[in-house]
Amino acid sequence: MGNKRPGDLKERVEQAADAALQASGSVGPLELLMEMRLLAPSHFTSWRKGIIPALEDVIQGSPEKLRRSFGHFQQWARNRGMRPVKIPYQRNTPGDVVTLRVTLSGDPEREDFFNKRYVPGELSAAKTKQTVAKMSKPQDIVVFETVRQSVICSECETELNKGDFLFMEKDRPLCLNCADLNHLDFLPSGNAALTRRARKYSRLSAVVVRFARARKRYERQGILVEPDAIEKAEQECLGDEDQRMARREREATRRVAQDEKLVDEMAQSIRRIYPGCPSEEAEKIACHTAERGSGRVGRSVPGRNLEERALELAVAAWIRHRWTEYDELLCSGHERLDARELVRHKVREIIGRWKDG
Ligand SMILES: [Zn+2]
Repeated sequence: MGNKRPGDLKERVEQAADAALQASGSVGPLELLMEMRLLAPSHFTSWRKGIIPALEDVIQGSPEKLRRSFGHFQQWARNRGMRPVKIPYQRNTPGDVVTLRVTLSGDPEREDFFNKRYVPGELSAAKTKQTVAKMSKPQDIVVFETVRQSVICSECETELNKGDFLFMEKDRPLCLNCADLNHLDFLPSGNAALTRRARKYSRLSAVVVRFARARKRYERQGILVEPDAIEKAEQECLGDEDQRMARREREATRRVAQDEKLVDEMAQSIRRIYPGCPSEEAEKIACHTAERGSGRVGRSVPGRNLEERALELAVAAWIRHRWTEYDELLCSGHERLDARELVRHKVREIIGRWKDG
């Protein structure tokens, strides 16, 4: 990235913190590092699933850069009136809930630092409780479908082959027998109602994932649940199949109507903030950012609530992609943040014009 003015890091941190907050309603040091591309999301996921014992090893950036970044981050949290909540990252195992460690040493003070996450201070008590509950939920028990030709169970030394299931206990592989999960049956993904009900009726359940090399991520294959639970869930699904089909159709119709209403309101809000933005442009922006399943800022909670900050982000992103050479810069190999820097001036200029009307 080369040498940068000291102000740049601050801005990067603030942008990353905003983006992470938009994406999930809360942000801590780890979410910040992922947004800044100093921690690979795949490493974070592996850590949460128990494959990487301590994250510290895979965090990029010099100690000095990290120290300064965290300083800016805390300043950002204060300026934005964020409320700190201390919630450790945890994962379920067959007998226990395990607290994950970020540092190799397990130093309590540093662990505390990484566990301290922020939620917006203006959130209502009920919303805060909801957000905290979501953050506190331990990672499900995860079972891996082996992708290697041969893995040896670290306890009974059984050989597991490609396609067999294994559980990771403190970065050691265990066969399902040794992990006390052998009484569960595999229910492949594909039928959402059946899966949901089987999980509900099973006292113990696990999620089965497989690492997809091409996409560099874990993909859900199904769940492990008690055989009785599958049977009960199947009966229940057979009993109300017609009803569920009718409901699905009703819901699909309702969703279309909701989406249209959201796009209309969003386009109006954009025009209010940016009187100089042509109305067909405002509509295009709203359509794009509010697209269902897109994961764009218009689909986030602040976006759907038409909060000004979310709409500003949506408009800035639109301008960057449509009105500047940003995409070409990315295509020609520029780093994302460098490319942003190069088009920043142009984006600001257009925003200014639209704001002034
Ligand atoms: Zn074993």
